[in-house]
Amino acid sequence: MKPFKILLTEHIDVNAMKTLEEYCTITQDVNEIDVVDGIIIRAEKVTRDMIAKAKNLKVIGKHGVGYDSIDIKAAKEYGINVVYTPQANIQSVGELIIALAMNMARNVSLSFERGKQDKNKTIAPKELTGYQLSKKTFGIVGAGKISRIAATIAKQGFNMEVLAYDPYISKEECDQLGIQKVDLDLLMTSADFVSISVPLTENTTHLINESKLQLMKPSAILINTSRGGVVDEEALYNALIHKHIYAAASDVFVKEPPTSENKLLSLENFVATPHIGANTHEAMALMGSTVVNEVLLVLRD
Ligand code: NAD
Repeated sequence: MKPFKILLTEHIDVNAMKTLEEYCTITQDVNEIDVVDGIIIRAEKVTRDMIAKAKNLKVIGKHGVGYDSIDIKAAKEYGINVVYTPQANIQSVGELIIALAMNMARNVSLSFERGKQDKNKTIAPKELTGYQLSKKTFGIVGAGKISRIAATIAKQGFNMEVLAYDPYISKEECDQLGIQKVDLDLLMTSADFVSISVPLTENTTHLINESKLQLMKPSAILINTSRGGVVDEEALYNALIHKHIYAAASDVFVKEPPTSENKLLSLENFVATPHIGANTHEAMALMGSTVVNEVLLVLRD
């Protein structure tokens, strides 16, 4: 008989699953919440109600970062540990930021879409004229782990200057990283690329709103891989349709996955990816092994 029972409804890395199964019985049935010792989640929510029902619960493991889907206050009140995998996917998300920046700057997806639609092969390359990344200014909103990876690629790969807005990081730390600490308005005004990597909190909800978007250059590109809700989607739609900014790409939405109801998806200067920031084989393996090890550490304590 295995010592622990875990609620896990989504898929995790095969090897991580093997380790978990050595010590735990796995259930996918949320109705068994009252008997589980641990919950491992990916995108699912853990509510106060669930925590209150889970009489044996000792640990909630988040496969990934950004534990805004967990009622942390309730977990604290009930004395439940919350563990997560802060390092495991940062490289993958950092690389996606650059992929989206390059895509939007050079109209890669748009060229492909036009090519597919253009039966007579009369694509007008002039309409697809883009921008180089070399020597441009890269603005990071939030100067944490993911932003630093994207900033390093921007600096080393494209000789970009990096501006950072992050009230919780000192000027000295920014100096050491070779990035310039600025306020948000200056970043929005000066950057050619604005990349957002902050947690979703009360302070960051609609941090990028109409007035901030209006500060951006008409040639600027916005990239959001943080959380839906940090950017005001209606304001972004207006900025894109009126060409106040050149283009935007987002991996995250208020309602995920985004459907055709989301007006942003109708725009040619917008690209959506369905929350794939951490979706690489490498990150999935590392997130799986890390969350399983962290959960087992708590349970065996
Ligand atoms: P991190 O904690 O290392 O960095 C976040 C940074 O945001 C910190 O430096 C913090 O000081 C800063 N910050 C907090 N509030 C701020 C504010 N009001 N204004 C400006 N800066 C503020 O986190 P990270 O690993 O870089 O991840 C960032 C976010 O990316 C996560 O919280 C998560 O929501 C998101 N994420 C998305 C994916 C994806 O698949 N798209 C994957 C992983 C993480």
